[in-house]
Amino acid sequence: MEKRYLFTPGPTPVPPQVLAALAEPVLHHRGPDFQAVYARCLERLEAVCRTEREVLLFTASGTGLMESAVANLVSPGDRVLVVSAGYFGERWAALAGAYGADVDELAYAWGEAPSAADLAARLDGHTVVFLTHSETSTGVVADVQALAAAAKEAGALVAVDAVSSLGAVPLETDAWGLDAVVSGSQKALMTPPGLAFVTVSEQAWARRGSAPRYYFDWERTRAAQEQLDAPSTPATSLVVALDVALGLLLEEGLEAAFERHVRLGRACRAGVQAMGLELFSPDDDSASVVTAIRAPEGIDSGELVLTLRDRFGITLAPGQGPIKGKVFRIGHIGWFDIFDITTALAAVELALAEAGAEIERGVAVTAALDAFERPLTVA
Ligand code: PMP
Repeated sequence: MEKRYLFTPGPTPVPPQVLAALAEPVLHHRGPDFQAVYARCLERLEAVCRTEREVLLFTASGTGLMESAVANLVSPGDRVLVVSAGYFGERWAALAGAYGADVDELAYAWGEAPSAADLAARLDGHTVVFLTHSETSTGVVADVQALAAAAKEAGALVAVDAVSSLGAVPLETDAWGLDAVVSGSQKALMTPPGLAFVTVSEQAWARRGSAPRYYFDWERTRAAQEQLDAPSTPATSLVVALDVALGLLLEEGLEAAFERHVRLGRACRAGVQAMGLELFSPDDDSASVVTAIRAPEGIDSGELVLTLRDRFGITLAPGQGPIKGKVFRIGHIGWFDIFDITTALAAVELALAEAGAEIERGVAVTAALDAFERPLTVA
């Protein structure tokens, strides 16, 4: 009889309506029952991605669709530019390298925010620029609109990892001229892991590369989807679930969801700072996806995360790469409300106090509630 809480930036908690959909009898992927759901789910994805073009849906994790962007846009030997400032930016570089691209990296220290001016200065005939919208490892949400504008200006295609940002913070696929936007089911879209998708601009279709590809070949999936079919058996139950989740998100409204995420981010930052902890992620409204927090002196953040799980059934995310052991992360994307934040804060407070950390007790929850309630226009 232990209640468990999932407060990570993916996978994220799944609403009961979506879980119930997962328990429905399995549909055959070529039957009309499934096709009706499939069509609606694809339409809803277009709305969430803010694109007029089709969204290609795959049974894969987010990394699979990152790989698809490389496999479809790159030819071996192409000079591409990866903007990286954390774990997932580095993944773009590794993927492009694996496909034989000549990878140039505009690399920042973990936790820094990439700048469009740096990108513009660095661009020099690169065919594709790979960007990370929300760098989940650090909590930084990059200004993809400005970065993409710089890349387009230099004639490059722009591929964006929006795995942890889509549905949480504004992203305009068409209006910002993004050529490929990749995301997945298990973050702000409130569905278990297993589905991922990509938008493809007209320019990207025209400038596809020659890297070998099969499962992730965009054209095979596009041609199948046009007939409401798929080149291989999709995870039909997950599509049914994603359709329900997208319905919930669109019913709330994208703008309302973005505002809720801003308020959740404010609440989380106010709470951790009130108890005397230092932020690793930025202290501003851009950081609405995940709050990264430095563990107090003498406390290993990985140990803290384990203690929270063992003592209270609460899962937070540890630090990765160079900030492993130093930083822990509270996610707040998707099906989160203020009481998820206050629960996480209360547990962190208790666990740190028990570990002998010097923190102020009894103030974090109130600070979080106050920050959440404050009108958005007031800084
Ligand atoms: N990019 C970002 C920004 C992510 O947060 C993640 C997942 N944490 C991924 C890519 C990879 O997605 P997946 O684990 O579904 O392959």
